[in-house]
Amino acid sequence: MTVLLLAEDDEDTAAILVHVCRHAGLTVFTAADGVTALEMVDASCPDVVLTDLVMPGMDGLGLIRAVRSHRTAAGTPMVILSATDDPVLATTGVCGVLLKPCGNEQIVDTVERLAIRGPHEHSRSGAHCAALQPARA
Ligand SMILES: [Zn+2]
Repeated sequence: MTVLLLAEDDEDTAAILVHVCRHAGLTVFTAADGVTALEMVDASCPDVVLTDLVMPGMDGLGLIRAVRSHRTAAGTPMVILSATDDPVLATTGVCGVLLKPCGNEQIVDTVERLAIRGPHEHSRSGAHCAALQPARA
């Protein structure tokens, strides 16, 4: 069973994503801020973390940095959920960026592909890893 941690402070967005992902058979934990999300990384060992950028307290970029330097969870696949395609997002050490609004299938497909891929290294310079790139023929 794939465990997804969703860090999202907007209740409506979180509710929709939780519904979509649970419907697809994922186990979903949610956190409304980065600090709570980081605690849940410890508590629930998620296969994949999907994070919003703007959250109270520790924001999405802070959460990504914290997970990437985590003792045991540093390789956890992470995806940013963002409304804007800011160039800075290409240097954050995640697997990819999902632009809001994105289709339900795209979200579930992304999470499942990353769960299959499992934990992996991410460069400190922060370029997106290759986990979400199409397999070469
Ligand atoms: Zn990755």
